[in-house]
Parts: sequence; C-alpha cells; structure tokens
Amino acid sequence: MTDLGMTDLDEQRMRLILTLRQRGITDPAVLAAMEKTPREMFVERAFSGRAFEDTALPIACGQTISQPTVVAAMTRALELDAKCKVLEVGAGSGYHAAVMARLARRVYAIERHRALAQQARERIEALDLSNVVIRSGDGTRGWPEQAPFDRILVTAAAEDAPRRLVEQLRPGGIMVLPVGDSDDAQKLIKVVKTESGLSYTELGEVLFVPLVEGVPEDAPY
Ligand code: SAH
Repeated sequence: MTDLGMTDLDEQRMRLILTLRQRGITDPAVLAAMEKTPREMFVERAFSGRAFEDTALPIACGQTISQPTVVAAMTRALELDAKCKVLEVGAGSGYHAAVMARLARRVYAIERHRALAQQARERIEALDLSNVVIRSGDGTRGWPEQAPFDRILVTAAAEDAPRRLVEQLRPGGIMVLPVGDSDDAQKLIKVVKTESGLSYTELGEVLFVPLVEGVPEDAPY
C-alpha cells in the first residue's frame, strides 16, 4: 500500500494506462475501459508479473494475448458505442472481449480452442460482464444466428477479410482485422461496408497468430 492507499496492482495498472497515453492512445473511453479491465486475470499465472507490460504474452494452446497498445488501437478503430452488437473472432484469453464489453451493447466472441473459450468464459463471469457470450468453434463462419453485426473484430491474421464475415457485417458497419502472412509483416486494416462496396484503411503494421479454418480435431479438450 502507498500513502494514497493504492496497492501495487493499482499502481501497475495505472502505469500501463500512462504507457498507452505515451504511445499515442488518447481516446478517453478506450483508456477508461482498459483501466477497468484487470489484464492480470487474463494471463497465465507464470506471466502475471508481466501483465502490465505493453507486450503480447503466451496463453494456453500456443496462442497469445495481444499487446495492450494493439488492443487499444483496434478498439479505437472500431468506433464502438453503447448500441453496437459486436462479433469477435479469436477470443483467446477473453481480454479484448472484456474491454469491448464496457463500450458496446453486446459482444459475441468465438474461439477455435475449446479450452481457451472455457477459460475466457470463466474470467468474463468472474468480472460480472453479462453482455459477453463466448463459444468455441470456427469463427471464419461467423455467427449466422446473431448476424448482422455492427462491428466485427478479428484478432488473428487472414489473407483478406473473410467473405462470410463481410456478409455478416451490417451496411455502415466496421470490421478491423490484421491481414497478411503470419511470419511476414501484417497490416492492420479497417474495413467499412458501404452501399457500394468496401472501403479499406491501413492502420499500421502488427503481428498476430494466423486465422485457422476449422477446429482442432485431435484436441484432448
Ligand atoms: N483477442 C485475444 C487474442 C487472441 S490470439 C485476447 O484478447 O486474448 C488469436 C486467437 O484466435 C487464438 O486464440 C486462436 O486460437 C484464435 N483463432 C484462430 N483462428 C480462429 C478461427 N478460425 N476461429 C476462432 N478462433 C480462431
């Protein structure tokens, strides 16, 4: 505890928010959503001491929890508001879904590894975020029963915006995703669906695990 009654954890969380500011994330709503979301709950115990570093970290099933500045930049680019119904493909740890839950009406998240989906659900429940639904499955198919979506976030790299996801995006809707080879430079792009087609904006270089079609067949979970 410090003189201000802050715990070490509070202080580390605040330091991460400061780092985000220094790295150009200025959107107050995004910063507030990230401040309220305890990233240490979403990383493996072995890495909890590093939960507040601005870096991607390993999670189960050989996947990663994204770097906080990338989470912030993607969330900002989605232009979320309290009316938005959001689809996330690649729920991973559940962290990004938890951040978006503070800014959107409802978040539907899909994860191809069942063990990760289960863990993510438990964390979301522990945080009492009742507007997030997580299921396991192949997210390249989207979530037809819930379509159309106002926003779609893909947190694994594809060659291009998957066709079925574009179909499930409402006209006027926004999709944010990394595109490109997973071991090469990928670009983060923002796709806006208009009446006449899609408009693309490049947001910078990123590195994500690949978007993989189908679900693991031989997984023991
Ligand atoms: N958003 C996550 C980071 C996820 S890393 C977080 O906040 O922690 C990308 C995730 O996408 C991995 O967990 C990977 O298993 C998942 N993924 C890859 N291809 C997928 C697919 N077709 N459907 C659903 N999830 C997929």
